Amino acid sequence: MLPSVTYHPLGLILNPIIYALPIWLLVMGIRWAFITRRCRRRERLGLCVGCAYELGELSVCPECGCEGA
Ligand SMILES: [Zn+2]
Repeated sequence: MLPSVTYHPLGLILNPIIYALPIWLLVMGIRWAFITRRCRRRERLGLCVGCAYELGELSVCPECGCEGA
């Protein structure tokens, strides 16, 4: 005779929240840190934040139309 396993229906809802949410938050945190670091670096070097075009004295990027810093 096979052992019977009972699944709690609430587990279908709680397991993704318990296991996937921290992983999702970690991935989004790393992504946010990467994007923020890239934007700061581009601002520091005088490049367009959107596409890294060298702005020089321009206030609006001619490549993507992004407002310069
Ligand atoms: Zn641009």
